[in-house]
Amino acid sequence: MADARSPLESEIRRLIAVAGPMPVAEYMRLALSHPQYGYYVTRDPLGAGGDFITAPEISQMFGELIGLWMASVWQQMGAPENVRVVELGPGRGTLMSDALRAAKVVKDFCPAIVLHLVEISPILQLLQQQRLGDLDLPIWWHPALDEVPGGPVIIIANEFVDALPVHQAVKQTDGWHERVVEIGPDGNLAFGVARDSLPFFATALPRALRQAPEGAIFEWRSDALALEIGRRVRANGAALILDYGHSRCGLGDTLQAVAGQSFAQPLQRPGEVDLTAHVDFETLALSAECMGAKSHGPVTQRDFLFNLGIRERAAALKARAPAGKAAEIDSALSCLTAREARGMGDLFKALAIVDPKLGPLPGFAAPQ
Ligand code: SAH
Repeated sequence: MADARSPLESEIRRLIAVAGPMPVAEYMRLALSHPQYGYYVTRDPLGAGGDFITAPEISQMFGELIGLWMASVWQQMGAPENVRVVELGPGRGTLMSDALRAAKVVKDFCPAIVLHLVEISPILQLLQQQRLGDLDLPIWWHPALDEVPGGPVIIIANEFVDALPVHQAVKQTDGWHERVVEIGPDGNLAFGVARDSLPFFATALPRALRQAPEGAIFEWRSDALALEIGRRVRANGAALILDYGHSRCGLGDTLQAVAGQSFAQPLQRPGEVDLTAHVDFETLALSAECMGAKSHGPVTQRDFLFNLGIRERAAALKARAPAGKAAEIDSALSCLTAREARGMGDLFKALAIVDPKLGPLPGFAAPQ
């Protein structure tokens, strides 16, 4: 049995043996970003035959519309001569490559850009270098947003926040307890609850959630990223965050594992399966607003892309496409915007966090 364990599972078991049950957030952090065995550190999850596919990998239209969004926001910012374009978790560099190609239509925007890519994966960093290295603009890589210098900024994050660790708490008769990972009675990793309750936890919850039934689960992330984004954008900056999640803070366990484009068990093969949890857009926006920024949305990805003109972009691409390609464009359009369970249109949301003097923002209000 021992050889079926991933090297990271052995490491996690060792840590539990030494220090006791591990909070879910710590487990998720290790599974995704352990410097030697972490999921993102050891692979390209987006490549052919990869574990999951993201919007920019589905169609060039996604990145192109975001490029036009950035250019339009840059104009609202007063077209600063130097702007830092920061992408958090750029994957294969596809979104940024499509975005910057489309943004060329706005004169002077591309020459003003210094590109900053925040990435922990050396493998993906290499792919980003190959994809974006030929562009005629300076590119810097950073392990975290707080290392990017200040100044006018546009921040883009697609499917980044869902990969940041979530804490979970479980409601018990005597209050809320942190959910942990421990060794179960059968010797495998198992979920459990910390022995001591979290003091005053209920008072920090939104009023409507305080009467949660026993067994209910509440998830939260560190607000460090939201505060950092708010602080950076409040004076001539803008951030666009796209991800799956809920518009209102609520209860529920959304921790999920994916491998080979199917769901997997979150506690099996840590480091070899992707782990994510839904984004709580309400809390993210509130935290950023605490720093003096203003939020717009969230709106569904469907509304965002329709407002930005994805239908028209698809029609233009189809008009120029060779025979046989038109159906591919239609299917990408439907995948990005469809409401049905299999489409991304409803579950995925767009949220902008910006300098309060900016707006109305493209994509967040229906075009007149
Ligand atoms: N935005 C891309 C990739 C999404 S996958 C797309 O839409 O296709 C998540 C990305 O975030 C990957 O590039 C991953 O390596 C990066 N990532 C995950 N956790 C990170 C962290 N803590 N710090 C920096 N990058 C991280």
